[in-house]
Amino acid sequence: MAPQGEIVKDLSYVHTGDKLGLGADKKNPSFIEHPDKIPEPGFLGIRWGKTNGEIANLNRLVDAKCQYFLAESLRTGEPLSPEVEFVLKTGKPSTVYKERWTIWPLCAGILLILNIMYHAYKDPTTSVLIMVCSFFSYDLFSGVLHIVLDNPVMIGVPIISEPTLEFQWHHHIPQDLTSKSFLEVCGDLNLITAVMFTLYCIPFGPFDYSKSDLAMNIISWKIFFAYFGQLCHAMSHMPPHRRPQWISSLQTAGLMVSPKEHWGHHKNYDDNYCIGSGVWNKVLTPFLKFTNKVHGAFGSNDVISAFCWLGAFLAYGVMDVAVFLHFFRDVLKLGH
Ligand SMILES: [Zn+2]
Ligand SMILES: [Zn+2]
Repeated sequence: MAPQGEIVKDLSYVHTGDKLGLGADKKNPSFIEHPDKIPEPGFLGIRWGKTNGEIANLNRLVDAKCQYFLAESLRTGEPLSPEVEFVLKTGKPSTVYKERWTIWPLCAGILLILNIMYHAYKDPTTSVLIMVCSFFSYDLFSGVLHIVLDNPVMIGVPIISEPTLEFQWHHHIPQDLTSKSFLEVCGDLNLITAVMFTLYCIPFGPFDYSKSDLAMNIISWKIFFAYFGQLCHAMSHMPPHRRPQWISSLQTAGLMVSPKEHWGHHKNYDDNYCIGSGVWNKVLTPFLKFTNKVHGAFGSNDVISAFCWLGAFLAYGVMDVAVFLHFFRDVLKLGH
């Protein structure tokens, strides 16, 4: 724990303050440290609550990096990358990172855990099976989502554009996830979890699973692991001295993606897309290469390929509960 007033030099955290600049290393322009303390973590060694200015500072870093990339592009003649060009063109550079309603993930998280505990008490065997299946499923889903959102084509797609920009700027500012409080990181899922709730639980929605105990158990684990996936990704970027021991143990055990495994993605952004446990990485990257080859063989192009992945992502994101429900209820004859 840093003593009060000590200047903490830690590039994993974008400090509160006005002083922004570019580092000496031209290949890795970074934030000039401001002598603020990194906020202390709370329960379970996680920093849950917002810190004033954490999102504004990330957006100011976007601004600074944009100016750097623009100057470099003019100097070298190299084109700007699409996510940088978009920010410069829109004239609203400070909109990549958004402040979220953190009350939503807080309430959703409490409800999910209560629901999971209730179902685990009523039917422990089924609950454990659902947990194990959801654990493997969410990692694969995180990889599919990541493939979609890393594609520059998605910057122009309404609604998808916002998370796409954030994903692609994460490549330039990997410390964004360790600079935001965890509830802010979970807040990035507000839209997707609200859509799931509407689709699955509203009585006049298309599925209305609210009357099925089994379905509610599956949905609870699905959303729980979506939030857990945010923790996995954030903690893979957390430097060891700020990472709780229990997280390091889960990373070593392969239950959370390790910093080394995830850094494989940040080298070229074309591998290791899964950001949960990373267990599907060895399958997903070869599959992506295979689909690229198929598109090439049939005279397709990158845009069609991108929208095929988007279709797969949407189908997976909506229909996985129905598939699990069929599997547990009709195949395994568990629950109703
Ligand atoms: Zn990426
Ligand atoms: Zn990352």
